[in-house]
Amino acid sequence: MALAQISTVSSPRTRSDFVVLGAWSLPRIIHGFTTRESGVSTGSYCSFNLADGVGDDANAVRANWARWHAAYPQTRVARLQQVGTLADIAIAGVHVMAAHGARPHRIRAALGPCIGRCCFEVDAELADRFVMQIPTAAACCNPGRPGKKHLDLRGIIRSQLQQAGLEKTSIVDVGPCTRCNSDRFFSRRAAGGALTGLQMSFIGFEPE
Ligand SMILES: [Zn+2]
Repeated sequence: MALAQISTVSSPRTRSDFVVLGAWSLPRIIHGFTTRESGVSTGSYCSFNLADGVGDDANAVRANWARWHAAYPQTRVARLQQVGTLADIAIAGVHVMAAHGARPHRIRAALGPCIGRCCFEVDAELADRFVMQIPTAAACCNPGRPGKKHLDLRGIIRSQLQQAGLEKTSIVDVGPCTRCNSDRFFSRRAAGGALTGLQMSFIGFEPE
């Protein structure tokens, strides 16, 4: 996997640091992918969990958000509900951007840390649904143990984005497999299915 850029965000207010993985250096745009490092949450939420509703202590989540806002002052955050790949959300997202004037061949996409093909073994029926609904997914699917198959989620999303008009060279992978690297990234599979914290992907405009 390509890892384009790793930066450590230093907060002038708290002097705390946390790691952000990024894809590009662009004027006026802030973006990145957080890791689980350098927060205050404990246990399976250790330590930079930014998600409410996963069982973490609310005060710890607030403290982690304070750390994030200290590093990105004067930003307002709109939180989104993540929609699974089968619903073609990548293509829907490009269509919405195009409706607002974006030209798909000029859109860039960064696919952040997630479970890799190495570890994403699912029931064969689920994998077959992917292949039926997304024809290009066949190349991103290979046999696993009996009754199971491995899926390359990023590969599927990459093909969806290209189908929506993005250039192949405009789509980059950032970060490794989260399960293989569960010391740096939250991974529910690595935790045996237990609730864990969540890292965050973010993008937005630099405040004026
Ligand atoms: Zn893995």
